[in-house]
Amino acid sequence: MGHIYNHVWIDIVARYKRMRGYEVYLPQGFDCHGLPTELKVENELKIPKSNRDLFLKKCIEWTENAISRMKEQFMKIGYSADWDYSYRTMDPDYKALVQRTLIDFYERGILYREKHPVLWCPRCETALAKAEVGYIEREGKLYYIDLECDGKKLTIATTRPELMPACVAVLVHPDDKRYEKLVGKKAKLPIFEREVPILADRDVDMSFGTGVVYVCTFGDEQDIRWQKRYKLPIIEIINRDGTLNKNAKPYDGLKVGEARRKIAEDLIEKGYIRKIETIRHSVLSHTERSSCLAPIELLPMEQWFIKVRDYLQDIIKVSKSMRWYPSYMLQRLIDWTESMDWDWIISRQRIFGTPLPFWICKSCKRIFSAKDFDEPLPVDPRGSVRECPICHGQAVGEEDVCDCWVDSSITPLVISKYLKDDEFFSKTYPATLRPQGYEIIRTWAFYTIFRCYLLTEKPCFRDLLINGMVAGPDGKKMSKSLGNVIEPEEPLNKYSADTLRQWAANGTLGEDYPFSWEELEHSYKFLNKLWNISRFIEMHLQDFNREKIEKPKLRAIDKWILSKLQGLIEECTNNFERYVFNIPLDKIRTFVWHEFADNYLEMVKHRLYKPEIFGQDSKIAAQYTLDYTLSVILRLLSPITPHICDEIWSQIYKQGLASTAEWPRVEKNLIDKEAEKTAELAKRIISEIRKFKTEKQISLGKEISKVKIKIHPEFKKSFDQVIEDIKATCKILDLSYEESPNVEKKSGYKIEIIEL
Ligand SMILES: [Zn+2]
Ligand SMILES: [Zn+2]
Repeated sequence: MGHIYNHVWIDIVARYKRMRGYEVYLPQGFDCHGLPTELKVENELKIPKSNRDLFLKKCIEWTENAISRMKEQFMKIGYSADWDYSYRTMDPDYKALVQRTLIDFYERGILYREKHPVLWCPRCETALAKAEVGYIEREGKLYYIDLECDGKKLTIATTRPELMPACVAVLVHPDDKRYEKLVGKKAKLPIFEREVPILADRDVDMSFGTGVVYVCTFGDEQDIRWQKRYKLPIIEIINRDGTLNKNAKPYDGLKVGEARRKIAEDLIEKGYIRKIETIRHSVLSHTERSSCLAPIELLPMEQWFIKVRDYLQDIIKVSKSMRWYPSYMLQRLIDWTESMDWDWIISRQRIFGTPLPFWICKSCKRIFSAKDFDEPLPVDPRGSVRECPICHGQAVGEEDVCDCWVDSSITPLVISKYLKDDEFFSKTYPATLRPQGYEIIRTWAFYTIFRCYLLTEKPCFRDLLINGMVAGPDGKKMSKSLGNVIEPEEPLNKYSADTLRQWAANGTLGEDYPFSWEELEHSYKFLNKLWNISRFIEMHLQDFNREKIEKPKLRAIDKWILSKLQGLIEECTNNFERYVFNIPLDKIRTFVWHEFADNYLEMVKHRLYKPEIFGQDSKIAAQYTLDYTLSVILRLLSPITPHICDEIWSQIYKQGLASTAEWPRVEKNLIDKEAEKTAELAKRIISEIRKFKTEKQISLGKEISKVKIKIHPEFKKSFDQVIEDIKATCKILDLSYEESPNVEKKSGYKIEIIEL
């Protein structure tokens, strides 16, 4: 439903802009690579990563299936993409451009390989970017462990005793009187009998635990900072699969969690544990785009990084030059950018991804790109060995693949045929619009703005349209366990594409939006109403020749509905221009249902049915008004509900379709505030007489013999223009009136129904 929601918005914009006369280019792409697919293949199809060829084949199959199902849904909702220009990130052309931009970055020193602590998911066995991890509240234990200094006990508090073998220093705050005398001395670790320095540092939180912290390789990001600040040694104890290595002897081979329990037991047994507190604390976990949620480890390893930190101010500047809808979403990007303290780690130890186009010499450690070996792109260096051009040693192909955001962050370049077709590029870059969800501002928007700016020195978008997430009918996030997941097929089969499109159009910029069966029911009823109105109008336009009409003799109520219609055109246009669809949809529905159907249609029926009494000119004026009003309504609605509008249009107007017609313009000469006031008076009087009939349980179609109305003199002129409409609409045989200054001026009239 999230895809349907987002793509209906995109389609509304495209259809609206086409009607406004723009040449719209809407290439639909599919982002294929990524962990979620690999996890599906691994966990659901039970194919191990070690069988690489089969694994890749299954990933591609799974992706092809997902794409065809999505495409089918897009077709069903009438999504008007330029399918001839669609692209997939797993296609050779796409991967070639990704690799080409990476080689460019490498040559410019923006891409580098370095040993650095990375965020590592031991469960998925891959490095992750900061955007993929988050904190989860978990229950844990805080262990108070005695170290020894000068024969005295020095107690630290930690949630991770298993990192003891990787401990490289003990830190206290310089203002902490309790430990003043210990700074500069050494502390002895229990079990391992190893000594580490005691240092003073202002970043120590005196109020946490005992005020003494132990620094390990690497407990958290603060440990990395301290390691750098004091050039502390690095003791690696955790393997990629989350087990401990021989540096953690006697705990090597154990998983992190097992080692934690075992070392705690040993410390208790030997009397080193003073107390254990149960606490709730935030644990850095693999939170994004998968159902993993495993705790993250910080492991030092060789990885590929793209320099982001050097360009943060550029990213902010370029982002500010774009128009964000809603505007407050820009701040989310700025906040995220300002919080970046690491470069972007782009290598993933996974399989289904764009390979990094590099070879590394085992002897001289030099890095060579596909360009150095004259390899055409895309290239898959995995498993290949080349001779090092410098030292003639073995250059081994990089085994890692790219983070999927490396692929998707060049979509504005791919669709504009960057480096392929300069003319096409100059016409289509920057993209006018990036539509996307707010949850991927810090990934898709951020990386795209950043990468495209580095490659083109230009902003890659003019506008960004940000949608929220679709929630279940209960307002909660859709999830299988809550049983509130709605698949698009269900509402599509029960109702129709135009019904579902109205639901989508009714969402608000940037806000989460629940799926609602009530809204669908209401939308469906509206379509029925529109259909019935159109049938009625079609019937009464049989003898109408729109080409021959020059100056119809419009009555006040015709002028009123035409004037109201101009206001509607203006409001719809203004809102569509700022990507707001729920307000125009609401205005159109209210107009169609109430002003047009309940009032105007009822007030002109007599003119349509009885030209012999009310005059042929009067009938033609009503036909003209109906014909014009309906054509405007269909065009205004067409971006939101194209199917029904095109169907009605082709039946009544015979030529073209609503969706290919020109967007209606405000016709200033039709704006008539006087007529609006006059019609308001008629509407009020008619409604009062109807109310009277209903109260007396008289059918609305039954005649009333005599009604007398007292009119305030100021309203006389208006009343004269609508007396015939009131009389005929309410079926009054004898309607008389008199001027009376005593009538309250506010209402303008007083009705006396004399005889039934
Ligand atoms: Zn994971
Ligand atoms: Zn070499």
